[in-house]
Amino acid sequence: MTASSLRVAVTPLRRDPSRRRGVAPLPSVDAVVASLRPEEPLHCLRPAAITAAARSFVEAFEGRTLYAVKCNPEPRVLSALWRGGVKAFDCASPAEIAVVRHVLPEATIHYMHPVKARSAIRTAWRQHGVRDFAIDSEAELEKIFAETGATSDLGLIVRIALPKGKAALDLSGKFGIAAEAAPALLCRARAAAQRLGISFHVGSQCSDPAMWSAAIARAGDIAVAAGVKLDILDVGGGFPVAYPGDDLPPLAAFMAEIDAGADALRERLGAAAPEHIWAEPGRALVAQGASVVVQVQARRDSSLYINDGVYGSLADAGTLAWRFPLRLLRASTASERVFTLFGPTCDSLDRMDGGFSLPADVTEGDWIEIGQLGAYGATLRTAFNGFDRGQLVEVSDAPLLRTPGYAVI
Ligand SMILES: *Cc1c(COP(=O)(O)O)cnc(C)c1O
Repeated sequence: MTASSLRVAVTPLRRDPSRRRGVAPLPSVDAVVASLRPEEPLHCLRPAAITAAARSFVEAFEGRTLYAVKCNPEPRVLSALWRGGVKAFDCASPAEIAVVRHVLPEATIHYMHPVKARSAIRTAWRQHGVRDFAIDSEAELEKIFAETGATSDLGLIVRIALPKGKAALDLSGKFGIAAEAAPALLCRARAAAQRLGISFHVGSQCSDPAMWSAAIARAGDIAVAAGVKLDILDVGGGFPVAYPGDDLPPLAAFMAEIDAGADALRERLGAAAPEHIWAEPGRALVAQGASVVVQVQARRDSSLYINDGVYGSLADAGTLAWRFPLRLLRASTASERVFTLFGPTCDSLDRMDGGFSLPADVTEGDWIEIGQLGAYGATLRTAFNGFDRGQLVEVSDAPLLRTPGYAVI
């Protein structure tokens, strides 16, 4: 099985055949565009920036870093993370587990989706050596017992729900057990698990570090009510990256809140406190690691019709009206003006209203680099209307934006 045959929903991005890893220095975005003159979206991967961000996080975080694979499962991304010191992976589906196993046979895989197919539990346990599973209900606990027949070596991580916080994207609306029901589940899980943990997710792109210490305190309340020994505290993902106009606290501020929360938890729980801390960052490790170069196919006043959109790698620019950094790939002395972007499909929802600033003379045929798309970009592509073509190349120039506290090379 090849890595690309694992991804069947959308046409795999074509690789640049002229370039073999390690043979020549990687080019810049401008150099690749000048040579390929791409009429389809060009995904420009910056493996060095991914490795650098991973290393920054791993060095700053006191526990085990699990990369949330859904954010970008591209094999070259997984390898770049591995080089940056990420050895554990948060997977949510059999396909994610298979791709991680294929690319990184030595990786530790944790199955962190709280609702799994029975066959997926079996395959993960028997074929892929997965031992740690997330749950948020008694029913899921029963499924795991039944399908693994586990008598030893089982790890169970109970995902708790959080009240809506300040993250850009709430991730407690769907998963996570309510605080009142959590102690009973923890007690049941403790009886069977060799390792017991509590996890949460503060929400994606959460720019307030205090959300982590508050969530850890809530986990502490639940642990006290349950009266069980914890082995693992998993502080989830949600670490933010820079988008235009953001003013983010540095990575160290998030780590300081986590450390303070963990210290308070140790004080409170004493011998029942967890010895291990995990985090599950996705966006923070990979967002700066890819840009997509799009071409302008038509301009109508302040509207630009481009060849990628909401059904491609720009989903968050549409649905969430998220802003991304843009760069026109040619010299221009024109002053900036704000544009609305339209994607290539026939759906009128395929528009991006975030307010995108570009030189006023941008015109049909121009190429635009859109940055910070290594996270939730290519992974959200669909084949709707037949617009799922694209090419993947590796580049070495700097990302368009820096997130405070993360190295870029
Ligand atoms: C999506 C997800 C993550 C990663 O979230 P980011 O906001 O990208 O850091 C981590 N853990 C779980 C369980 C997730 O579903």
